[in-house]
Amino acid sequence: MNIIVFRLSHRLPRDERATTHVGLVGRAFGADEFVYSGQKDEKMELAIRRVVENWGGNFRVSYVEDGIKWLKQEKRNGACIVHLTMYGIPLSEYEKRLLELVEKIKVILVVGGEKVPYEIYHLADFNISITLQPHSEIAALAVILDRMMKGKELDESFDRERFGGRIKIVPQERGKKVINLFDDEK
Ligand code: SAM
Repeated sequence: MNIIVFRLSHRLPRDERATTHVGLVGRAFGADEFVYSGQKDEKMELAIRRVVENWGGNFRVSYVEDGIKWLKQEKRNGACIVHLTMYGIPLSEYEKRLLELVEKIKVILVVGGEKVPYEIYHLADFNISITLQPHSEIAALAVILDRMMKGKELDESFDRERFGGRIKIVPQERGKKVINLFDDEK
């Protein structure tokens, strides 16, 4: 599988938190890479890279100056562009097709920030809605990734195989249990 999350038009300071969460949700729910366009934001990149450093895995973060140009290039190279938008076709109608595609080719999940240019709707192979109501890029991303991963990302076994970081949680009925290999190094 090769799933990239792409955030269009990151805006400072407005999108600092939301874009960071788009990256962290992408990572936790099974994506391999986070790419964003708009305003370059070293602080946001560092926040995500710190999580990768401490909690493990090979999740990559990168910035592209021209998002549409990058998407066109990725499409020419055979990627499938999935644009998440409340105006799109309900996910359930495309779910089976997406599950087949994600086994074979790179899938780029595009979420917007500011008003999404019309060109994106035409460039996308699929315009998919996660309900027909306005809500959040973060929720939309979580739902589609969960469906594409068939819910595997919620299992402890997935976590151990995929991340294996220096900090990891031991699930508890009550309370918290964290193994922090940093502590052993002190
Ligand atoms: N203000 C922007 C506009 O009017 O185009 C969009 C804001 S919206 C919170 C930001 C992003 O969340 C959208 O570009 C879309 O990617 C995602 N989103 C919000 N609601 C969605 C829905 N019902 N289905 C799919 N994606 C959704």
